[in-house]
Amino acid sequence: MNDVLTGIRSVLIAEDSEVQRAYLAQLCRAIGIQAVHEAGNGREALALLDALAEPPDAMIIDLLMPVMDGIELIQQLQQRTDAAPFVIVSARDSALVASVLEMLRASGQDCGHALEKPASAASLARALERCVAARKSRHGAAVRARREVSAAELGRALREGAIVPHFQPKIDCGSGQLRGVEVLARWFDAEGRSLPPDQFVPVAEASGLIHPLTLSMLEQALSQALSWKARGMQIPLAVNLSPRLLELPTLVDDIGRLVRRYGLQPPELTFEITESGVISRLGTALGTLVRLRMRGFGLSIDDYGTGYSSMQQLSRIPFTELKIDKSFINGAYANERLRVILQSAIDMTQRLGLACVAEGVETAEDWALLRRAGCDLAQGWFFGRAMPGDELPAWRVQHEARLDELCATHPTALSRGHEGSTLSDRACAGRPC
Ligand code: C2E
Ligand code: CA
Ligand code: CA
Repeated sequence: MNDVLTGIRSVLIAEDSEVQRAYLAQLCRAIGIQAVHEAGNGREALALLDALAEPPDAMIIDLLMPVMDGIELIQQLQQRTDAAPFVIVSARDSALVASVLEMLRASGQDCGHALEKPASAASLARALERCVAARKSRHGAAVRARREVSAAELGRALREGAIVPHFQPKIDCGSGQLRGVEVLARWFDAEGRSLPPDQFVPVAEASGLIHPLTLSMLEQALSQALSWKARGMQIPLAVNLSPRLLELPTLVDDIGRLVRRYGLQPPELTFEITESGVISRLGTALGTLVRLRMRGFGLSIDDYGTGYSSMQQLSRIPFTELKIDKSFINGAYANERLRVILQSAIDMTQRLGLACVAEGVETAEDWALLRRAGCDLAQGWFFGRAMPGDELPAWRVQHEARLDELCATHPTALSRGHEGSTLSDRACAGRPC
């Protein structure tokens, strides 16, 4: 268990119940944490933090405590620049805990995790590990975010071929097999450093370069799909389509021309569209979406659950797939409310005849939960990060060696068990493609 908690050597527990505190301290030691500091309430925790020579790597905070409760403690910690990431442990109802997490997210806090009491060693280890990892990746993002990108630079990078597609596997929840890949743009600068799409896609959207960027991603991905085919691998592609592009009258023809040139069938291609963007100019966007659908392409509603009018869009737009946002996947195994929301979304896709994809699958717990819940496809770091196209065949060999482990437990009857069918088979099920 020790290696699960790389980087966590010390923890401070703020918990008023002596029994609970002793139990949590015991769990911490069981998962290899060497220094465990204990405080009976928020005020004691702050005093201890001031007294310690080294701040702890993480904190475990109970919500309900006398003198200074967990929320006040967290608010005090937010004022400190060196505050450790923390996990909330509470026996209170999960709606309350969810509100606290929302409060933390709204103020940009590192902690995205809560544990229901009684916690187990494994769930505590996982929650602590996630908190620390979230802080690291946020720190990394903040460092990278310092780089400002201009439209001129972006245009040059596009012309010079510095923006290339990487591919992230989409996995069948029934069989564990590879069923497709999502195409994610990567910009490599002259030093070989990669710039995340969050930094240049908005610039592309604002400058009109999103059209050439999308067509470049699509063309490179189609060319990659062709060379996979030559090696006997037929892999459906999912390409991100900025909602802004849906207003472009030539888009459907541009896409159709490229797809014909590379000899792919439209059902082998799904376009992922973020829901918030579709709302703004629904009339024009709808026309493009309907035309893409009529030509047989799959349409996926991306980041489902994060927009504000998802239900309405589902009723109006001919989506074939629903992609549940990662915020409903991470931590759902330990949060009953998230589990209920997730299950409702999956049930809805079944009733609407849509394929259901879960993104942000990071752990074996996430994977097991999705299989039990009857989700179709899963995507996330648990299987593999986005990688260059020529690395995918080797990744697949390694993945196949993991299949027994991935499918060791059988999903319940809820699973739709679409083994053997492709993403687009499912997207087209019961509908004219
Ligand atoms: P997205 O469409 O939601 O893509 C999924 C993002 O989640 C990717 O980030 C992916 O690397 C990341 N991800 C994958 N698995 C996990 C996981 O297990 N845990 C976590 N925490 N994250 C995971 P990435 O590549 O940085 O892309 C960010 C966003 O940029 C994408 O979000 C998409 O909206 C946009 N984007 C990327 N490529 C393109 C493109 O070619 N065109 C357009 N219009 N947008 C793009
Ligand atoms: Ca996407
Ligand atoms: Ca997404």
